[in-house]
Amino acid sequence: MQNTLPTYTETLAGVYIDGQWLTGGAELAVINPATEAPLATIGSGDATSVELAVQAASKAFPAWARSSGAERGAVLRRIAEGVRQRRETLIQLQSANNGKPLFEAAIDVDDVIGTFEYYAGLAEGLDAQQDRPVELPTEDFAARLRREPYGVVGLIVPWNFPMVTTAWKLAPALAAGCTVVLKPSEVTPLPELELARIIHEAGLPAGVLNIVCGTGLVVGAPLSSHPKVAKVSFTGSNAVGVQVMQRAAETVKGVSLELGGKSSLLVLQDADLELAVELACGGAFFNAGQMCSATSRVLVAAPLMADFLAQVQARAEATKVGDPFSEDVEMGALVNQAQYQRVRGHIERGIASGARLVCGGERPAELARGYFLRPTVFADVPRDSALWNEEIFGPVLCVRSFATEEEAIELANDSEFGLVASVVSRDLDAAERVANALQAGMVWINSPQVIFPQTAWGGYKQSSIGRELGPWGLSAFQEIKHVVRAV
Ligand code: NAD
Repeated sequence: MQNTLPTYTETLAGVYIDGQWLTGGAELAVINPATEAPLATIGSGDATSVELAVQAASKAFPAWARSSGAERGAVLRRIAEGVRQRRETLIQLQSANNGKPLFEAAIDVDDVIGTFEYYAGLAEGLDAQQDRPVELPTEDFAARLRREPYGVVGLIVPWNFPMVTTAWKLAPALAAGCTVVLKPSEVTPLPELELARIIHEAGLPAGVLNIVCGTGLVVGAPLSSHPKVAKVSFTGSNAVGVQVMQRAAETVKGVSLELGGKSSLLVLQDADLELAVELACGGAFFNAGQMCSATSRVLVAAPLMADFLAQVQARAEATKVGDPFSEDVEMGALVNQAQYQRVRGHIERGIASGARLVCGGERPAELARGYFLRPTVFADVPRDSALWNEEIFGPVLCVRSFATEEEAIELANDSEFGLVASVVSRDLDAAERVANALQAGMVWINSPQVIFPQTAWGGYKQSSIGRELGPWGLSAFQEIKHVVRAV
């Protein structure tokens, strides 16, 4: 792949309001986690920038809300096309800023294109649905249904899939007719800033999208509590999600939350073991395990346990970890030093809890710099340990065996989270039965973690409030209005 990575020699504007890039503000250093070298310096915003951004979004709202679905769909299609044209640059930016290998970053960028195209289609379909008559049990009244945009919405996103989490909120918000103040993660703002340039060139009217880069407390907090923000859609940790919800409660604004997970992969007795190993490692080590949907718990039918562990260990030890820009690398770096230390802390506490470290747990000896960690596998993980119950957000796979299907379901559901789950079995009846019993918003059977714009994203229990993607992602940004007339 030709090098199209931008080099940032001057401080980059991290605030985009009313179609203008604003410089100044506290400087944020953005690093490349694979080299620990600086990538860029960003001028960040503060509460005043949030205020200006909300004002610009409020001013832009009436015209954008009045535009037809077809007009909004056309803008979304131009954004998708702009992303397609800058695909290589965006892939490289994501790899450089996040540490993920190029092939993973490519999946992200293609997902962004697909998401904008999907919501372009839904936007185009809105005009025909608007003012549909509602069937009533009387002829004395006539009713029609309108779906109207919420208003100004605040979107707050994390660093693990910066562009994807942004697209999953931004595309439906724009399709619905909302105007937006977006706060990227302070750790990985570069892909979103590039996306903003593409969106600007695609002709989105000024003020419809505003971006304020900065830290959570300085920018995210005032955005979550701003009285003119009608809804906050947040993806991130549970601790911060609770704070966002508390701030939003002050002005009774809507919230959508996509939070943590502790997802299970169940390997039933008649599973194809090779497939189970591939899916377990893919689910745990993709994005260096920094996934809300990471299959960090693997439950294996007892008779398969010894073979499964041996094969998982071999696969984990053979995984090529290193420079995300190297084409043959399978796992890149963790996003920064804090995340590296957090995951190392989990590993150390896991060992202290009595779990058996099968492999990994350390940085690869040959890599002197960068936040790299070897794929790590634990067996015999105590059920009451933090390793088994808390989100690790690193390349750590925890394995336990089970004796019966009921025990496997009980173990998988015994979590405060319920984001996703996976089942591996040649007996499809058993797999479907287990899938139905699992408390998760998405269950894959004999499948990698494929995500389509048409299927909802989100989970049970403390993993989510609401759903993203599909028509649910759009309705998250729409108010429902019925107009009832006496005939
Ligand atoms: P985080 O909660 O630390 O930060 C997320 C965003 O919130 C960032 O932009 C941050 O600056 C901002 N923020 C921080 N403090 C804030 C505050 N007080 N008020 C408002 N905003 C604030 O999460 P992270 O470390 O960036 O991401 C990892 C977490 O995200 C994990 O827990 C992961 O499970 C979760 N996640 C969930 C999904 C999902 O779809 N369920 C997807 C990706 C990530």
